[in-house]
Amino acid sequence: MYDFNSSCAAALTDRAYPFECAGCGTRSSRLTEWCLNCARSGLICARTWRPVDKILPPTPGLNAKSLAAMDQKIFRVGNYPDLFLGPGACVLGHGPPGAMKSTWALRVCESLRPALYFPLEEGISPVLAGRLRRLEIRSEDIVFEMPRTLAGVFAAVEAHSPFCIVLDSIQCSTLSPEDVLSLARSRQGVVLAICQERKDGGLKGNNSWPHLADCVVKIDEGKWSVEKSRYQACNAGGSVL
Ligand SMILES: [Zn+2]
Repeated sequence: MYDFNSSCAAALTDRAYPFECAGCGTRSSRLTEWCLNCARSGLICARTWRPVDKILPPTPGLNAKSLAAMDQKIFRVGNYPDLFLGPGACVLGHGPPGAMKSTWALRVCESLRPALYFPLEEGISPVLAGRLRRLEIRSEDIVFEMPRTLAGVFAAVEAHSPFCIVLDSIQCSTLSPEDVLSLARSRQGVVLAICQERKDGGLKGNNSWPHLADCVVKIDEGKWSVEKSRYQACNAGGSVL
């Protein structure tokens, strides 16, 4: 039933607190650099328009002939033979801290080269270097970039034209699930979004992720399992290493 009072209250709240932290969801009345709640910078955005809308590249339109000819072939991920993906797939990998999400993402990347990896939380760091050495991943066609802006993310995608793009950890960016989905759909490859879980098991940041992704993989205690997929049955899984 339409509740006039509560929608009035929501409209008033929108007017009084038009900004929101993309990291923790805290509303604020002013556009600030830092979130007053989680103290992270660069995550505050307006609720009714987003600066990212001015940055996102448009997806070119297609006629029915070219669209019908588009590749739909499902493929296997070499390092994880039980994992199947398709062209233009938007994949969500989620799990608690320390579950080996980044390791899983790197091994997927290794199978789907050329790849472009954005370590959005960890950065291009000795920790990442150590992980690569442990996994014996030394390919030149897996590139790591740490752009400071979303425009930088799209410029890097444009510059490298990777088959696989990894956004690790997506909760540290202001990209919405819809943005990542449109990035995936505009390409023939795969976009992997890695998202950390909160203590209660929910996802940090946006909750429409599991609904929008083509494939949702849970990673926990060194194991991965397919929770949802349009390419295969849901019981697939295995060990991350
Ligand atoms: Zn915050």
